[in-house]
Amino acid sequence: MKKFLIFLICILILSLFSLWLMENPGTVVISWIDYEITTSMAALIAFIVFISVIIYILRLPVLFIHFIKRSLVHQKQKNKEILLQQILNAIASQDEQAGIKLSTRIDKIYSTNSSLNLLLKALLKPSPDIYQKLSELPETELAGFKGLIQIEQKNGNLEAALTLCEKAILKYKNIPWLVQETLYLQVLNEKWESALNTLEQIKKLKIESEQHYKNQKATLLLKLNKPFEAYKTAPWLPQAALEAAKANPKKAESILTRAWEETPSWELYKAYTNLFQKETPLVRYKKIEKLVSKHPGNKISYLALADSALQAKLWGQAKKELDDYLAAYTLTVPAATMMAFYEQEARHDTKEAQKWIEQMKTAEPLYAFTCSKCGYKSDTWSPICPKCSTFASTETL
Ligand SMILES: [Zn+2]
Repeated sequence: MKKFLIFLICILILSLFSLWLMENPGTVVISWIDYEITTSMAALIAFIVFISVIIYILRLPVLFIHFIKRSLVHQKQKNKEILLQQILNAIASQDEQAGIKLSTRIDKIYSTNSSLNLLLKALLKPSPDIYQKLSELPETELAGFKGLIQIEQKNGNLEAALTLCEKAILKYKNIPWLVQETLYLQVLNEKWESALNTLEQIKKLKIESEQHYKNQKATLLLKLNKPFEAYKTAPWLPQAALEAAKANPKKAESILTRAWEETPSWELYKAYTNLFQKETPLVRYKKIEKLVSKHPGNKISYLALADSALQAKLWGQAKKELDDYLAAYTLTVPAATMMAFYEQEARHDTKEAQKWIEQMKTAEPLYAFTCSKCGYKSDTWSPICPKCSTFASTETL
């Protein structure tokens, strides 16, 4: 409506101008060499308008060709967008059948070997060949490396996967998945020294908790045969304390006590009592009594005290600790073993002792460790979780 009004106003102005020109035609004389043309202003304007119209008409075919070209480009662009949308939809909805159909159309729409073509194919139907090509293009090399690393890992070629990681990390230092993957593969390939360097890189990126960083560092130091440094890094890691105590007999007592203060464990108790093998059972009991006082009520504290009381033949003490344990916790193998020992040795009740021996078969092991990632329980410490393969995820229960 607005456009129509403007058009009407223009027509009106033009008509008024034409009328005015007719009333005031004037005279225009053009003289050039020997030629002279005398005409009116209106005729001159009409002539100019006429020539302009002719030029415009002559240009029409050119404009038409331009218009057709533009439409074709627009249509092609639209087709690209539609295909891209369909591909992304197939990926997001994990529609594999649609994905297979669409992957054959990619070459028609996107030029072969263009990074977009390769990226889309990699997302729809990954293959080593496509990842190799992606890794050769500067704009997609990281995606290419990631795919190749995953394939090598899947095929069990851990060394090849690590080589790729180390090549990629030279250029991409701050990519969280890459540094974590590199560390994991260095651990699996037992490259402890390099793993320690990668771990420092992870620390700088602040992508993991301080506790996990220390657990990992201590585990690597243990592998590098530096138990005391490992213990200094993570005194709560029983394995670090046990190995540090073994390597430093003079400091063993303080190392094990400190570790117990952090996290009591059956292995620490065993190592601690072993320090006093030459003492009498009663002296050992007194030592343990002092040790467990740091964690009263803890299930390992009950069992440790009961065990050393049984060895010192302090039957009443042992029974009290075992009763307290059984009232608070489920039956475990060491608890059942101690009960059987108590019934046999203290009360000479073979029948009752036999009952506890029977119960040992169904009792739970005394799980000491759990994986912080998958929850896998174990009675031994391991640097890599046997279930989910996470590095240094084993924590004391
Ligand atoms: Zn796990």
